[in-house]
Amino acid sequence: MRLGLYVHIPFCSFLCHYCDFAKTANYDAILVQDYFAALLKQFRSMTAHFERTSGRPVSFSSVYFGGGTPGLFTSEYSGLLNAVYEHLDNDAEISMECNPKNLNKSALDLWKSMGVNRLSIGVQTLQKVGLEVLTRDHDASTALRALELALHAIPNVNMDLIYGWPGQSEEGWASDLKQLVNSGVPHASLYSLTYEDRTPFGRMARRGKVRPETDDALSDRYVAAREVLGAAGFEHDEVSNWARSGFTCRHNWLYWDFKHFVGIGAGAHGFLSAIGDDDGDDDVDVGMRYSFPRDVRSFLRHSPESTNAATLMAMVRELGGELDEGRDLDSVLIEYVGGALRTRHGIDLSFCEKIAGQPFSPRPVIAEALKRQIAWREGNRLRFAPAEWFRENSWASEVLLSF
Ligand code: SF4
Repeated sequence: MRLGLYVHIPFCSFLCHYCDFAKTANYDAILVQDYFAALLKQFRSMTAHFERTSGRPVSFSSVYFGGGTPGLFTSEYSGLLNAVYEHLDNDAEISMECNPKNLNKSALDLWKSMGVNRLSIGVQTLQKVGLEVLTRDHDASTALRALELALHAIPNVNMDLIYGWPGQSEEGWASDLKQLVNSGVPHASLYSLTYEDRTPFGRMARRGKVRPETDDALSDRYVAAREVLGAAGFEHDEVSNWARSGFTCRHNWLYWDFKHFVGIGAGAHGFLSAIGDDDGDDDVDVGMRYSFPRDVRSFLRHSPESTNAATLMAMVRELGGELDEGRDLDSVLIEYVGGALRTRHGIDLSFCEKIAGQPFSPRPVIAEALKRQIAWREGNRLRFAPAEWFRENSWASEVLLSF
Protein backbone atom coordinates (compact mmCIF):
# COMPACT_ATOMS: atom_id res chain seq x y z
CA MET A 1 0.00 0.00 0.00
CA ARG A 2 1.78 3.14 -1.24
CA LEU A 3 0.70 6.48 0.22
CA GLY A 4 1.80 10.05 0.96
CA LEU A 5 2.06 11.39 4.48
CA TYR A 6 1.05 14.89 5.54
CA VAL A 7 2.05 16.01 9.05
CA HIS A 8 0.50 19.21 10.39
CA ILE A 9 2.54 21.37 12.77
CA PRO A 10 0.09 23.99 14.08
CA PHE A 11 2.49 26.31 15.90
CA CYS A 12 3.45 29.81 14.72
CA SER A 13 5.48 32.50 16.42
CA PHE A 14 3.07 35.14 15.04
CA LEU A 15 -0.29 35.03 13.27
CA CYS A 16 -0.75 36.51 9.80
CA HIS A 17 -4.07 38.26 9.32
CA TYR A 18 -4.99 36.48 6.09
CA CYS A 19 -4.27 32.94 7.27
CA ASP A 20 -6.98 30.32 7.69
CA PHE A 21 -4.78 27.32 8.46
CA ALA A 22 -5.07 25.44 11.76
CA LYS A 23 -2.50 27.22 13.93
CA THR A 24 -1.85 28.79 17.31
CA ALA A 25 0.75 31.18 18.68
CA ASN A 26 -0.25 30.18 22.21
CA TYR A 27 2.12 27.33 23.06
CA ASP A 28 5.02 26.39 25.30
CA ALA A 29 7.69 23.69 25.36
CA ILE A 30 5.45 21.21 27.24
CA LEU A 31 2.62 21.54 24.73
CA VAL A 32 5.04 21.07 21.86
CA GLN A 33 6.52 17.97 23.52
CA ASP A 34 3.01 16.54 24.08
CA TYR A 35 2.08 17.33 20.51
CA PHE A 36 5.05 15.51 18.97
CA ALA A 37 4.39 12.55 21.28
CA ALA A 38 0.75 12.48 20.09
CA LEU A 39 1.83 12.67 16.44
CA LEU A 40 4.05 9.65 16.94
CA LYS A 41 1.21 7.69 18.58
CA GLN A 42 -1.20 8.67 15.84
CA PHE A 43 1.25 7.68 13.12
CA ARG A 44 1.90 4.30 14.73
CA SER A 45 -1.82 3.64 15.36
CA MET A 46 -2.73 4.42 11.77
CA THR A 47 0.05 2.50 10.05
CA ALA A 48 -0.53 -0.52 12.31
CA HIS A 49 -4.24 -0.38 11.47
CA PHE A 50 -3.59 -0.26 7.70
CA GLU A 51 -1.18 -3.18 7.87
CA ARG A 52 -3.44 -5.26 10.11
CA THR A 53 -6.58 -4.71 8.04
CA SER A 54 -5.00 -4.95 4.57
CA GLY A 55 -2.40 -7.61 5.33
CA ARG A 56 0.11 -5.56 3.33
CA PRO A 57 3.01 -3.33 4.36
CA VAL A 58 2.51 0.41 4.15
CA SER A 59 5.09 2.56 2.41
CA PHE A 60 5.27 6.32 1.95
CA SER A 61 6.53 7.93 -1.25
CA SER A 62 6.47 11.46 0.18
CA VAL A 63 6.27 13.19 3.53
CA TYR A 64 5.16 16.80 3.87
CA PHE A 65 5.54 18.80 7.08
CA GLY A 66 3.05 21.65 6.69
CA GLY A 67 1.65 24.19 9.05
CA GLY A 68 1.64 26.36 10.93
CA THR A 69 5.37 26.76 10.93
CA PRO A 70 7.14 23.39 10.90
CA GLY A 71 10.46 25.24 10.53
CA LEU A 72 10.24 26.36 14.17
CA PHE A 73 11.41 22.89 15.23
CA THR A 74 14.42 20.69 14.64
CA SER A 75 15.34 17.80 16.98
CA GLU A 76 11.64 17.47 17.96
CA TYR A 77 11.16 15.57 14.67
CA SER A 78 13.60 12.78 15.39
CA GLY A 79 11.19 10.35 17.14
CA LEU A 80 8.51 10.72 14.49
CA LEU A 81 10.96 10.55 11.58
CA ASN A 82 12.57 7.42 13.00
CA ALA A 83 9.14 5.77 12.99
CA VAL A 84 8.36 7.10 9.51
CA TYR A 85 11.68 5.74 8.18
CA GLU A 86 10.48 2.20 8.89
CA HIS A 87 7.89 2.78 6.14
CA LEU A 88 9.69 5.09 3.77
CA ASP A 89 10.59 4.51 0.11
CA ASN A 90 14.32 4.89 -0.56
CA ASP A 91 13.81 7.86 -2.84
CA ALA A 92 11.02 9.49 -0.81
CA GLU A 93 10.55 13.25 -1.03
CA ILE A 94 10.53 14.88 2.43
CA SER A 95 9.38 18.51 2.45
CA MET A 96 9.55 21.01 5.28
CA GLU A 97 7.67 24.31 5.29
CA CYS A 98 9.49 27.19 6.95
CA ASN A 99 9.50 30.94 7.30
CA PRO A 100 12.54 33.06 6.40
CA LYS A 101 13.23 33.92 10.03
CA ASN A 102 13.53 30.26 11.12
CA LEU A 103 16.18 29.41 8.59
CA ASN A 104 19.71 29.16 9.87
CA LYS A 105 22.63 26.89 9.12
CA SER A 106 22.26 24.63 12.15
CA ALA A 107 18.52 24.05 11.50
CA LEU A 108 19.25 23.28 7.85
CA ASP A 109 22.08 20.90 8.73
CA LEU A 110 19.89 19.04 11.21
CA TRP A 111 16.91 18.75 8.87
CA LYS A 112 19.24 17.54 6.13
CA SER A 113 20.78 14.92 8.40
CA MET A 114 17.22 13.73 9.15
CA GLY A 115 16.52 13.24 5.44
CA VAL A 116 14.62 16.45 4.62
CA ASN A 117 15.32 17.00 0.92
CA ARG A 118 12.87 19.76 -0.01
CA LEU A 119 12.08 23.14 1.57
CA SER A 120 9.08 25.38 1.05
CA ILE A 121 9.71 28.94 2.18
CA GLY A 122 6.91 31.39 2.93
CA VAL A 123 8.29 34.58 1.41
CA GLN A 124 4.88 35.92 0.23
CA THR A 125 6.35 39.12 -1.22
CA LEU A 126 9.59 41.04 -1.30
CA GLN A 127 7.81 44.41 -1.26
CA LYS A 128 8.17 46.29 2.03
CA VAL A 129 4.61 47.59 1.89
CA GLY A 130 3.30 44.12 1.03
CA LEU A 131 5.06 42.48 3.95
CA GLU A 132 3.43 45.05 6.22
CA VAL A 133 -0.03 44.63 4.65
CA LEU A 134 0.26 40.84 4.93
CA THR A 135 1.43 41.22 8.56
CA ARG A 136 4.52 39.10 8.00
CA ASP A 137 7.37 39.25 10.51
CA HIS A 138 10.32 39.28 8.12
CA ASP A 139 11.78 41.84 5.76
CA ALA A 140 12.92 41.35 2.17
CA SER A 141 16.63 41.09 2.95
CA THR A 142 15.97 38.37 5.58
CA ALA A 143 13.98 36.45 2.97
CA LEU A 144 16.69 36.74 0.32
CA ARG A 145 19.39 35.65 2.76
CA ALA A 146 17.23 32.71 3.85
CA LEU A 147 16.75 31.61 0.24
CA GLU A 148 20.47 31.72 -0.41
CA LEU A 149 21.24 29.73 2.72
CA ALA A 150 18.50 27.20 1.94
CA LEU A 151 19.60 26.66 -1.67
CA HIS A 152 23.16 26.11 -0.54
CA ALA A 153 22.10 23.33 1.86
CA ILE A 154 19.13 21.74 0.07
CA PRO A 155 18.81 22.65 -3.64
CA ASN A 156 15.13 21.65 -3.93
CA VAL A 157 13.50 24.85 -2.67
CA ASN A 158 10.02 26.25 -3.25
CA MET A 159 9.21 29.94 -2.80
CA ASP A 160 5.64 30.89 -1.85
CA LEU A 161 4.41 34.26 -3.09
CA ILE A 162 0.99 35.89 -2.70
CA TYR A 163 -0.53 38.23 -5.27
CA GLY A 164 -3.60 40.44 -5.17
CA TRP A 165 -2.91 41.96 -1.75
CA PRO A 166 -4.36 45.44 -1.17
CA GLY A 167 -2.13 48.07 -2.69
CA GLN A 168 -0.02 45.68 -4.77
CA SER A 169 1.12 47.36 -7.99
CA GLU A 170 1.87 45.72 -11.32
CA GLU A 171 5.47 46.89 -10.97
CA GLY A 172 5.69 45.39 -7.48
CA TRP A 173 4.46 42.03 -8.77
CA ALA A 174 6.88 42.17 -11.70
CA SER A 175 9.69 42.86 -9.25
CA ASP A 176 8.68 39.91 -7.03
CA LEU A 177 8.65 37.61 -10.06
CA LYS A 178 12.01 38.87 -11.25
CA GLN A 179 13.57 38.35 -7.83
CA LEU A 180 12.05 34.88 -7.65
CA VAL A 181 13.75 33.94 -10.93
CA ASN A 182 17.04 35.59 -9.91
CA SER A 183 17.05 33.83 -6.54
CA GLY A 184 17.60 30.48 -8.28
CA VAL A 185 14.74 28.61 -6.60
CA PRO A 186 13.60 25.73 -8.81
CA HIS A 187 9.95 25.74 -7.66
CA ALA A 188 7.37 28.48 -7.17
CA SER A 189 3.91 28.47 -5.59
CA LEU A 190 1.98 31.65 -6.37
CA TYR A 191 -1.39 32.09 -4.68
CA SER A 192 -3.94 34.85 -5.03
CA LEU A 193 -4.94 36.33 -1.69
CA THR A 194 -8.25 34.99 -0.39
CA TYR A 195 -10.39 36.62 2.26
CA GLU A 196 -11.46 33.70 4.43
CA ASP A 197 -14.41 34.26 6.75
CA ARG A 198 -12.74 33.48 10.05
CA THR A 199 -9.63 35.63 9.48
CA PRO A 200 -9.05 39.33 10.31
CA PHE A 201 -8.79 39.97 6.54
CA GLY A 202 -12.16 38.29 6.00
CA ARG A 203 -13.74 40.47 8.70
CA MET A 204 -12.18 43.61 7.22
CA ALA A 205 -13.56 42.72 3.78
CA ARG A 206 -17.02 42.11 5.25
CA ARG A 207 -16.98 45.53 6.91
CA GLY A 208 -15.81 47.18 3.70
CA LYS A 209 -12.47 48.22 5.20
CA VAL A 210 -10.58 46.53 2.43
CA ARG A 211 -11.59 45.87 -1.16
CA PRO A 212 -10.47 42.56 -2.70
CA GLU A 213 -8.81 42.84 -6.11
CA THR A 214 -11.04 42.38 -9.15
CA ASP A 215 -10.96 39.14 -11.12
CA ASP A 216 -9.46 41.04 -14.06
CA ALA A 217 -6.58 42.36 -11.94
CA LEU A 218 -5.91 38.87 -10.55
CA SER A 219 -6.04 37.42 -14.03
CA ASP A 220 -3.44 40.01 -15.18
CA ARG A 221 -1.13 38.95 -12.32
CA TYR A 222 -1.57 35.32 -13.37
CA VAL A 223 -0.74 36.15 -16.99
CA ALA A 224 2.37 38.07 -15.86
CA ALA A 225 3.49 35.09 -13.77
CA ARG A 226 3.03 32.68 -16.66
CA GLU A 227 5.03 34.93 -18.97
CA VAL A 228 7.93 35.53 -16.59
CA LEU A 229 8.23 31.98 -15.28
CA GLY A 230 7.62 30.42 -18.69
CA ALA A 231 10.40 32.59 -20.22
CA ALA A 232 12.71 31.56 -17.38
CA GLY A 233 12.21 27.86 -18.19
CA PHE A 234 9.75 26.84 -15.49
CA GLU A 235 7.14 24.26 -16.36
CA HIS A 236 3.58 25.08 -15.29
CA ASP A 237 2.34 22.09 -13.27
CA GLU A 238 -0.85 23.44 -11.77
CA VAL A 239 -2.63 26.79 -11.67
CA SER A 240 -0.55 27.95 -8.68
CA ASN A 241 2.62 25.88 -9.12
CA TRP A 242 5.63 26.05 -11.41
CA ALA A 243 8.76 23.88 -11.37
CA ARG A 244 12.05 23.65 -13.18
CA SER A 245 12.74 20.30 -14.80
CA GLY A 246 13.32 17.64 -12.14
CA PHE A 247 11.90 19.76 -9.32
CA THR A 248 8.18 19.12 -9.51
CA CYS A 249 6.65 18.44 -6.10
CA ARG A 250 5.73 14.76 -5.93
CA HIS A 251 3.60 15.26 -2.84
CA ASN A 252 1.48 17.93 -4.57
CA TRP A 253 0.76 15.52 -7.42
CA LEU A 254 -0.87 13.13 -4.95
CA TYR A 255 -3.46 15.81 -4.23
CA TRP A 256 -3.93 16.84 -7.84
CA ASP A 257 -4.11 13.28 -9.22
CA PHE A 258 -6.58 12.09 -6.56
CA LYS A 259 -4.05 9.71 -4.99
CA HIS A 260 -4.30 8.62 -1.39
CA PHE A 261 -2.47 10.18 1.53
CA VAL A 262 -2.55 9.95 5.30
CA GLY A 263 -2.86 13.20 7.25
CA ILE A 264 -1.87 13.35 10.90
CA GLY A 265 -1.98 16.19 13.41
CA ALA A 266 -4.41 18.91 14.47
CA GLY A 267 -6.47 20.09 11.52
CA ALA A 268 -4.81 17.60 9.15
CA HIS A 269 -6.84 16.17 6.29
CA GLY A 270 -6.40 12.72 4.81
CA PHE A 271 -7.73 10.92 1.74
CA LEU A 272 -7.82 7.15 1.79
CA SER A 273 -9.28 4.28 -0.13
CA ALA A 274 -12.98 3.84 0.53
CA ILE A 275 -13.01 0.20 -0.43
CA GLY A 276 -10.12 -1.07 1.59
CA ASP A 277 -7.75 -1.64 -1.27
CA ASP A 278 -5.41 0.60 -3.14
CA ASP A 279 -4.16 -1.59 -5.91
CA GLY A 280 -5.67 0.25 -8.84
CA ASP A 281 -8.04 -2.51 -9.91
CA ASP A 282 -11.23 -1.81 -11.80
CA ASP A 283 -13.41 -0.84 -8.86
CA VAL A 284 -14.46 2.80 -8.78
CA ASP A 285 -12.80 3.95 -5.62
CA VAL A 286 -13.96 7.50 -4.89
CA GLY A 287 -11.95 7.56 -1.67
CA MET A 288 -12.80 8.75 1.79
CA ARG A 289 -11.84 12.14 3.18
CA TYR A 290 -11.34 12.81 6.88
CA SER A 291 -9.97 15.55 9.10
CA PHE A 292 -8.74 15.86 12.68
CA PRO A 293 -9.81 18.62 15.10
CA ARG A 294 -8.12 21.97 14.44
CA ASP A 295 -7.72 22.77 18.10
CA VAL A 296 -4.45 21.38 19.50
CA ARG A 297 -5.85 20.56 22.93
CA SER A 298 -8.86 18.71 21.46
CA PHE A 299 -6.47 16.84 19.20
CA LEU A 300 -4.34 15.80 22.20
CA ARG A 301 -7.33 14.26 23.95
CA HIS A 302 -7.48 11.56 21.25
CA SER A 303 -4.11 9.91 20.93
CA PRO A 304 -4.42 6.24 21.91
CA GLU A 305 -1.30 4.06 21.88
CA SER A 306 -3.03 1.70 19.46
CA THR A 307 -6.41 0.96 18.00
CA ASN A 308 -8.29 -2.25 17.42
CA ALA A 309 -10.93 -0.58 15.30
CA ALA A 310 -12.28 -2.96 12.69
CA THR A 311 -12.70 -0.39 9.93
CA LEU A 312 -10.94 2.68 8.69
CA MET A 313 -13.95 4.81 9.57
CA ALA A 314 -14.04 3.49 13.13
CA MET A 315 -10.30 4.07 13.47
CA VAL A 316 -10.55 7.70 12.28
CA ARG A 317 -13.37 8.34 14.77
CA GLU A 318 -11.42 6.70 17.59
CA LEU A 319 -8.59 9.13 16.89
CA GLY A 320 -11.00 12.07 17.16
CA GLY A 321 -11.32 12.57 13.41
CA GLU A 322 -14.39 13.35 11.34
CA LEU A 323 -15.31 11.73 8.07
CA ASP A 324 -16.64 13.81 5.22
CA GLU A 325 -19.92 11.96 5.03
CA GLY A 326 -21.56 14.48 2.72
CA ARG A 327 -19.56 13.18 -0.26
CA ASP A 328 -21.66 11.46 -2.89
CA LEU A 329 -20.80 10.54 -6.47
CA ASP A 330 -21.85 13.98 -7.78
CA SER A 331 -19.71 15.86 -5.28
CA VAL A 332 -16.75 13.54 -5.98
CA LEU A 333 -17.03 14.31 -9.69
CA ILE A 334 -17.16 18.07 -9.01
CA GLU A 335 -14.19 17.81 -6.65
CA TYR A 336 -12.12 15.79 -9.12
CA VAL A 337 -12.88 17.74 -12.30
CA GLY A 338 -12.40 21.13 -10.58
CA GLY A 339 -8.94 20.12 -9.38
CA ALA A 340 -7.71 18.07 -12.34
CA LEU A 341 -8.52 20.54 -15.08
CA ARG A 342 -6.16 23.07 -13.50
CA THR A 343 -3.19 20.74 -13.93
CA ARG A 344 -0.78 19.69 -16.64
CA HIS A 345 -2.05 16.08 -16.37
CA GLY A 346 -5.64 17.14 -17.04
CA ILE A 347 -8.79 15.10 -16.49
CA ASP A 348 -8.94 11.30 -16.63
CA LEU A 349 -12.15 10.89 -18.58
CA SER A 350 -12.45 7.15 -18.00
CA PHE A 351 -12.37 7.73 -14.23
CA CYS A 352 -15.13 10.34 -14.65
CA GLU A 353 -17.15 8.02 -16.85
CA LYS A 354 -17.03 5.32 -14.20
CA ILE A 355 -18.22 7.74 -11.52
CA ALA A 356 -20.88 9.37 -13.70
CA GLY A 357 -22.01 6.09 -15.26
CA GLN A 358 -22.23 7.98 -18.58
CA PRO A 359 -19.86 8.33 -21.54
CA PHE A 360 -18.14 11.66 -22.12
CA SER A 361 -20.04 13.58 -24.76
CA PRO A 362 -18.48 17.05 -25.13
CA ARG A 363 -20.87 19.98 -24.89
CA PRO A 364 -20.61 22.49 -27.77
CA VAL A 365 -18.42 24.84 -25.71
CA ILE A 366 -15.94 22.03 -25.05
CA ALA A 367 -16.05 20.92 -28.70
CA GLU A 368 -15.26 24.51 -29.69
CA ALA A 369 -12.38 24.63 -27.18
CA LEU A 370 -10.99 21.45 -28.74
CA LYS A 371 -11.30 23.00 -32.19
CA ARG A 372 -9.57 26.20 -31.07
CA GLN A 373 -6.85 24.10 -29.43
CA ILE A 374 -7.24 25.63 -26.01
CA ALA A 375 -8.13 22.10 -24.90
CA TRP A 376 -6.80 18.75 -26.14
CA ARG A 377 -8.02 15.20 -25.99
CA GLU A 378 -5.27 12.60 -25.76
CA GLY A 379 -6.66 9.12 -25.24
CA ASN A 380 -8.59 9.22 -22.02
CA ARG A 381 -7.21 12.60 -20.98
CA LEU A 382 -8.77 16.00 -21.48
CA ARG A 383 -6.29 18.82 -20.98
CA PHE A 384 -6.78 22.56 -20.99
CA ALA A 385 -4.18 25.20 -21.89
CA PRO A 386 -2.67 26.85 -18.77
CA ALA A 387 -4.28 30.18 -19.70
CA GLU A 388 -7.65 28.47 -19.12
CA TRP A 389 -6.80 27.01 -15.69
CA PHE A 390 -7.58 30.37 -14.14
CA ARG A 391 -11.15 30.08 -15.49
CA GLU A 392 -11.63 26.71 -13.83
CA ASN A 393 -15.18 27.39 -12.60
CA SER A 394 -16.75 27.95 -15.99
CA TRP A 395 -14.84 25.08 -17.65
CA ALA A 396 -15.65 22.71 -14.79
CA SER A 397 -19.38 23.15 -15.23
CA GLU A 398 -19.11 22.54 -18.98
CA VAL A 399 -17.09 19.37 -18.43
CA LEU A 400 -19.49 18.12 -15.75
CA LEU A 401 -22.46 18.67 -18.06
CA SER A 402 -20.68 16.60 -20.72
CA PHE A 403 -21.35 13.35 -18.83
S1 SF4 B 1 0.66 32.14 7.06
FE1 SF4 B 1 2.06 30.66 7.98
S2 SF4 B 1 3.18 31.85 9.53
FE2 SF4 B 1 1.37 33.05 9.03
S3 SF4 B 1 -0.15 32.41 10.56
FE3 SF4 B 1 -0.45 31.13 8.75
S4 SF4 B 1 0.68 29.30 9.13
FE4 SF4 B 1 1.45 30.86 10.59
